[in-house]
This record gives sequence, C-alpha cells and structure tokens, in this order.
Amino acid sequence: MTFSELGLRAELLSAVEAQGYTTPTPIQQQAIPAVLNGGDLLASAQTGTGKTAGFTLPMLQRLAGGPRPGKRQVRALVLTPTRELAAQVGESVADYGRHLTLKSHVIFGGVGQQPQVDAIRPGLDVLVATPGRLLDLQQQKHVDLSRVEILVLDEADRMLDMGFIHDIKKVLRVLPEKRQNLLFSATFSNEIQALANKLLDDPKMIEVARRNTTAELVDQAIYRVDREKKRELLAHLISAHDWHQVLVFTRTKHGANRLAEQLSKQEIPAMAIHGNKSQSARTKALAAFKTGELQVLVATDIAARGLDIEELPHVVNFELPNVAEDYVHRIGRTGRAGSEGQAVSLVCVDEHGLLKGIERLIKRDLEKRIEPGFEPDPNAKPEPIENGRNRRGGGGRGGNGQKRGGGGQNRGQGQNRGAEQPAGARRRRRGGNGNGGGRQQA
Ligand code: AMP
Repeated sequence: MTFSELGLRAELLSAVEAQGYTTPTPIQQQAIPAVLNGGDLLASAQTGTGKTAGFTLPMLQRLAGGPRPGKRQVRALVLTPTRELAAQVGESVADYGRHLTLKSHVIFGGVGQQPQVDAIRPGLDVLVATPGRLLDLQQQKHVDLSRVEILVLDEADRMLDMGFIHDIKKVLRVLPEKRQNLLFSATFSNEIQALANKLLDDPKMIEVARRNTTAELVDQAIYRVDREKKRELLAHLISAHDWHQVLVFTRTKHGANRLAEQLSKQEIPAMAIHGNKSQSARTKALAAFKTGELQVLVATDIAARGLDIEELPHVVNFELPNVAEDYVHRIGRTGRAGSEGQAVSLVCVDEHGLLKGIERLIKRDLEKRIEPGFEPDPNAKPEPIENGRNRRGGGGRGGNGQKRGGGGQNRGQGQNRGAEQPAGARRRRRGGNGNGGGRQQA
C-alpha cells in the first residue's frame, strides 16, 4: 500500500515524501480514506502509531477544496490536551500542508495572547488549540467557531483525565451542528464512550494494534533496587552504558526537579520538563534534548505526553506510574516508527503491586535484573507511594495495580490532582512574552 493509493492529492504526497515516509502506517491506511469520505471517526490509537498524519493529511485535503474562512473564523479545529502536543500537531499541519495555501496556527496558554489574536483575525483553515486558551479567546470573541467544518479531539482520554471535559462541552456548544468529528483516544473508558456517543454520528471505528502488544522493538527490563539507591543506579547505568538522550519519568514534578538537579551535580546534564515550568523553559529543554545537547530529560507523564522525539534510544522509569497504561505510553517514546529502543524501569519494594498491574496489562512478564553493587535489601518493607496522580472516578483504565503496602494514597475527589494543571486551576495570566504559540502556515 502506498500513500497515493489512499487518494491523496499531489501536494500532500510530495510533502509526505519529503518527510521520508514510504508506507502508510495501519492507522493511516484506515483513517485517511475514512476521513476523506467525510464521515465521523472513532479511532483507538496511541502516540507513535502515526495517528497525527492519519487525521492531518485527509483533513488538509478536504479543506484544500473549500472556500476561504471569513474574519476570525476557523474551518478545522484540533483540540489537544497539552501545549507540547498542540505544538507538534501544528508542526505536522505546517509540514504536510507546505504545498497548499491553507493557513494554520497553534494556540495554548502560558504565553501572551496578542500574537494569537492577531494570527486568528484574518481567519484560519486550521486552528490547533488546548481547550483553556481556546475558550478564553472564544469568550473574548477573538475567534468565531460557528463555521467549523472539522473537529478533531486528539488524545481525548488525556483531555478528560486532565479535567477538560467542561471546557470541551463549552466548545461543543458554540460549534455548528453539521460538521465532521474525529475522536482519537488511546483508551476507551466509560467517559470516552459517553463523549463519543454524544459527539459522533455513525462513526467508523478504527482500532490499530495497541503498542502494549506491538512494542516488540522495545527491549524492556526491570532493575530491582532499593528506594534510596535509585538515583545512584540511574547515574551508574547512564555512565556505564554511555547512554545519550535518556528520557526519565518521575511520578511528580517535585521529583523531576530534584532528580534533574542531582544528575546535573554528578555532571550528567539533565533538565526537568513539567507543567510548572514556563513555556520557554519547556521549549528550551526539549530543543536541547532533541539536538542531543542535553543528555537527560526528566519528565512527568503529562508533560511527556505527545513528545515526538524520533528514535529515542532510552526511556527510564525512575518510578513506575500509578496507572499501568501510562507505562505503555512511556515506553512508546522509544522504538518509534521501526527503530529499536530500550526501556528500563527502576523498581523498589513499594512498587511490586504496580509492576504486577503492568505485566497483567501487557500480558507478559518483564525481565528482572539486579545490577551488581545495587542488590536490593531482601528484608526491605514496602512504604506507601506518595503523591500519586489522581484519576477521577476510576474511569475504566485497566490493570492499575493500585494495591500496595501501607494502603498508599487513594484518590478522593479534589485531592492532589496530579502532575499537571487541571482546567479549573489554570492561571489566566495576561501579557507575557508574546512569543507566539505556533507558526503561521508557510
Ligand atoms: P504520531 O503517532 O502521529 O505521534 O507519529 C509517530 C511518529 O511516526 C512520528 O515521528 C512521525 O513522524 C512518524 N510517522 C508517521 N507516519 C509515518 C509513516 N507512514 N512512516 C514512518 N514514520 C511515520
């Protein structure tokens, strides 16, 4: 199967070729004709499957034929949970649309709104946005969503996890009745199902092989180690194996900061990336990591979601995630699009329940290793895991392995809502550095 067999126009085919892609991925093979047909779509696909091109290419093709947008109007709206994902989708739109004359822009919070307002004013073919900033601008009448032809909800499960459901509902209320809806989600909780039922009209359903069954290219291993020895073991593994470009996951923002500082002190250049960092700090850290200047990037789950770093060789779970499916998302950062990768998890006695949950989900036992000099104390007692991410309502994310020694923290409503800002807590800062938020389409 080739891209041209999918019915894409020449401008898009040459943009795809410029990216170096020769064969459409399974999600692209199914999604592209479905979106070109004009119907609604419900796709189960994770980052790493090629889903972005799967919706962007046919979306651009559909837009290419139509009338120009009026002032402040938007023809296709893509909602994403995080700024990073918004920026990446925006880049894909610009890359794939480089030979078309469509205009696109990306908006998200945490940066000045004026450049975004200016970019939207003449009207846009594609607007990629995080829900909060979009609503801000919509309420101030800087954007007119009444002519949206295509709505894409990307990583819808993560948007719900982050508390964006109310924002999404508000956005839906100002969209026109008749439009094409595309919903992408890595998981299908009851909440996602409910949203899909409300949103989609007779959708085509696509489910591509999940990464938790397809990540054979990722060499996965567990290092058993004591809680207090994790940092030392990590520094040792990085130096002993001469690892470059290591993405390390911690459970909390505080833990990410502390670990990045400690590694830097040991002359392993490291930076942390999470929702409390300014956008410019996040962008800077990511850019340095991508070029290989920065050896280690320490991230929380949500900050890392959607990071598109090609051929990332090493992912380390400094702590296992509280939700088993996040393990799959994390290791999905490596071994992408055919390249090999290595995912290593440092597991202490507190995390045995979480590990079991992960092994249940991926339906295999992970190889256990013990590094000489870092043998775990066989008599160590498990302690509760602090500051885990709260997920509301137990929305059906399987195999979370929550039972752990000492009972752990559990997840009452309104408790620590986790690693990133939920919708209600968004700061509505004004002003800012005005450094845009995406680029205008070439
Ligand atoms: P996504 O799932 O959209 O985040 O894409 C995952 C990665 O796969 C990105 O790095 C894309 O550049 C890459 N990619 C997308 N489509 C293809 C393709 N057909 N062939 C090879 N790589 C691709």
